[in-house]
Amino acid sequence: MRLQDYVIVHELLHDHVPNHGKLWKSLMQVHLGEHEQLEAELRRGGWHIRRSTAYS
Ligand SMILES: [Zn+2]
Repeated sequence: MRLQDYVIVHELLHDHVPNHGKLWKSLMQVHLGEHEQLEAELRRGGWHIRRSTAYS
């Protein structure tokens, strides 16, 4: 999976779930599986999701 796919699914899920709670996480698992590893990569790269910072 590419990082771009992660970003798209992440943002699309926010149309349904406005936070990063249990529901959001389980939906990410369903769609992406390995998203936690990708999130760690994104953090290491200093990459931020504007909407996610607004919600967290
Ligand atoms: Zn988010």
